[in-house]
Amino acid sequence: MAHDCSPNTNRFYDAGVMTLVATQPVPAGARVTTSYTSLLWGGEARRAHLAATKFFLCTCRRCQDPSEFGTDVTALACRGGEGATGGSCGGRRVCRRHGEDLCWRCTRCEKSMTAAEVHTLHQVLALTLGRTLALRDAAKAEAWLEAHQGVLSGESLLPVGGGEALERDTLSPATLAADANARDTCMAWAAPAR
Ligand SMILES: [Zn+2]
Ligand SMILES: [Zn+2]
Repeated sequence: MAHDCSPNTNRFYDAGVMTLVATQPVPAGARVTTSYTSLLWGGEARRAHLAATKFFLCTCRRCQDPSEFGTDVTALACRGGEGATGGSCGGRRVCRRHGEDLCWRCTRCEKSMTAAEVHTLHQVLALTLGRTLALRDAAKAEAWLEAHQGVLSGESLLPVGGGEALERDTLSPATLAADANARDTCMAWAAPAR
């Protein structure tokens, strides 16, 4: 099956049997696609992962659209000044393509960040988030989210991915059902960042 970052199927495994389920209408003759990477990652992270593990540069429709179908999932909250520091203007920085270059430009104050700066910031965020989630402690995860509200935009996939990981790895469904605090933490992570 060919890869696509917005595939038309999802896979499930049970006792060595793979079940493929269509996630959107598949017209007769259309290619059946699956994803070789995490759909909860932004374009830069997906392409880097695919290049490193599958040795190709993805050029699917989602990868060719800097806004990722208008979702702006890699958007960052604007911090005003140049680079990653400075006060907030209340706007957000979204990826816009200028020729071959990617540039993150604020929708309100027009300040920008280079793709390299954004890539570094995303890597730091993902690294510290991963380390925090590895502690398997909902309170510490909540503290991470609180500490990074200023940089995450409302559309960022990091809180959504964090919520999914919390639920999957950190807290069992039984714990979630029994522990109101743990459930609230997961719900807060799954909701868009404020
Ligand atoms: Zn792609
Ligand atoms: Zn701004």
